[in-house]
Amino acid sequence: MNYHMTINGQSVAGKETFDVINPADKTVLAAAPKASIAQLNEAVDAAKAAFPAWAALSYAERRDKLMQLADAVEAAGAELMQSLTKEQGKPMKGFADMGSGFEFGGTLAWIRATAGYDLPPKVIQDNDAARIEVHRKPLGVVGSITPWNYPLLITVWHVIPALLTGNTVVVKPSEMTPLTVLRFGEIAKDILPPGVLNVVSGDGEIGAAISSHADIQKVVFTGSTPTGKAIMNCAADNLKRLTLELGGNDAAIVLADADVNAIAPKIFATAFINNGQTCAALKRLYVHEAVHDQLCQALTDIATSTKTGNGMDDDTDFGPLQNEKQWNIVKSLAEDAKARGANFLCGGEVTDDSGYYFPITLVNHIKDGARLVDEEQFGPILPIVKFGDVEEAVKLANASPNGLGGSVWSSNIEQAKAIASRLECGSAWVNHHAVVQPDAPFGGVKASGFGVEFGEAGLKEFTSIQTVHIYA
Ligand code: NDP
Repeated sequence: MNYHMTINGQSVAGKETFDVINPADKTVLAAAPKASIAQLNEAVDAAKAAFPAWAALSYAERRDKLMQLADAVEAAGAELMQSLTKEQGKPMKGFADMGSGFEFGGTLAWIRATAGYDLPPKVIQDNDAARIEVHRKPLGVVGSITPWNYPLLITVWHVIPALLTGNTVVVKPSEMTPLTVLRFGEIAKDILPPGVLNVVSGDGEIGAAISSHADIQKVVFTGSTPTGKAIMNCAADNLKRLTLELGGNDAAIVLADADVNAIAPKIFATAFINNGQTCAALKRLYVHEAVHDQLCQALTDIATSTKTGNGMDDDTDFGPLQNEKQWNIVKSLAEDAKARGANFLCGGEVTDDSGYYFPITLVNHIKDGARLVDEEQFGPILPIVKFGDVEEAVKLANASPNGLGGSVWSSNIEQAKAIASRLECGSAWVNHHAVVQPDAPFGGVKASGFGVEFGEAGLKEFTSIQTVHIYA
């Protein structure tokens, strides 16, 4: 299949191409167009030209277009899900049905739910003295830089609120997984006016050019903290607005009174969701000594009943890591943990290197200070740290520079809630983790970034306030 960028309502080839690798077998899956800086500029020009007419439409008119887009994406479901599995590695179905079907279902749900919002003007004074209205206005051209873990879903998280509020968009998908987003752009070009949504794929220079572009008013980025910082530097020149959803190293604290049999499946599913390649996955598990051994056993029982393999196979629970760099990070964290004398309850060794496979791995007898605890693993390996004093566990949970999510697990909801409220993170869960939904704001604190996505708060991030004072 040939893949094209979408610029000003046209399918456009790159001046060059770059290879997209299938992580399940390391073969070249496709050649993706590599945008030149001139092509990026064309996309930004088109988005700028399309902005006044798109911004002038009502919410209802833009909603109508976005609902049509959802229908068209739904009609292309079989192709898009296969594409996700082939380039990202996630299984079609996967453990607890959390594979490509899950990402695709979330994509449709998020488009439709987000398109339903409205930001009408607020009247804050209306009397003989004056009428004062607060309006939410679109910003202009938004640049969206999306990652390789949920290529389609995160694109929709960026693009739909930007479009609904009247902005036009230039999307740059990850160079690791551009194909599904390129197809999304081609589907959208038959529905949206030319220039409203542009997709440019590239490798090495397009991201930085977006974040320093004088005609882009806002960048929304999901990815690593170092790249988030680089974007912030580039954005200073024209005072771009930013939403930065960066890495996490989410802690979960399991209290002594937790019901181990009830929580083990949820802990397992949210630690290994998307093979651990999820920003808000459960990444550090602190377990009270009273339930430590029992929980380790319950998690090991689940882990050893799962299968890692090619995502196109029906019985695969977990696919490969998405890329070689991430595979090497996970292997080096496992090696470091081994060298420190940690205990591997399961996994830990690569047994199949025909793709970027790493088995589901549980590690205990490990402490803060080990790389596996201190760093974001973004892969299928979970450190389990035993504690005796809950105050110490809270201190360790908050010692991370990251602050995306955190959770507390207990049969005493009030006590768990009180501890969860002390975690330094943007989302805190009681007896769950990593659950997101279109109406609940989601974002990080500390090195996990700033700004929120989803719901009305997420929509407002794509607008500026204009206060209108009216005197008779
Ligand atoms: P990065 O987070 O570094 O992001 C790469 C993307 O950013 C590319 O599209 C690249 O574009 C763009 N980019 C690079 N430099 C700049 C810049 N100065 N300004 C604007 N954009 C820029 O991706 P990695 O794949 O390297 O991931 C590294 C780590 O990030 C992972 O190990 C994981 O820990 C974390 N991660 C977190 C995710 C999350 O959901 N929060 C998702 C994915 C990864 P170009 O190719 O044009 O340079």
